[in-house]
Amino acid sequence: MDNDVLAFRFTETLAERFGDRVERLPTPERFGQWLEANGLRFDEAVPTRAELRAAQALREVVYRVGATVAQRGAPDPVDVEALNAASRRGRAYVELRDGVAALVSGGRRPVIDALGVIAQDAIGSVAGAFAELVSVCADPSCRGLFLDMSPATNRRWCSMNTCGNRAKKAAMAERRQLAER
Ligand SMILES: [Zn+2]
Repeated sequence: MDNDVLAFRFTETLAERFGDRVERLPTPERFGQWLEANGLRFDEAVPTRAELRAAQALREVVYRVGATVAQRGAPDPVDVEALNAASRRGRAYVELRDGVAALVSGGRRPVIDALGVIAQDAIGSVAGAFAELVSVCADPSCRGLFLDMSPATNRRWCSMNTCGNRAKKAAMAERRQLAER
């Protein structure tokens, strides 16, 4: 199962956060592509460098808040305020269009609106009943965030396609080595 929470997917754009870090948003262009792929690109303009920096800062705020909630702790008030501020600044809203909920940018700063959507998604994902479901990936170099909606709440990986698969392959290699002894 892949990461179905937008805000947590966003935090994964810094991959291997606790290993050999991979920055998946190295340039404003790449950030624009990520927005596009996630339904958050509201205009054709390439994000500015300042917007990219704001996005990367928000990403780490979301990660810290989520990781703290996953450990059943109280997030740092500074991070909470940063998250709330990003939410407040966003002017995006949803409209019902032909049975589909369409996100619309209401402000003059589409990227800020997109970050607002991410902040709101993060808030919704760590608040209330969801707080107990926030988990970190069992992969020590990833520790990515996810919401454990599995029936037995025993999901271990942020994504089966990446970390789950890697663990499966490692286990198989280990079994093979044992068998060869
Ligand atoms: Zn992971």
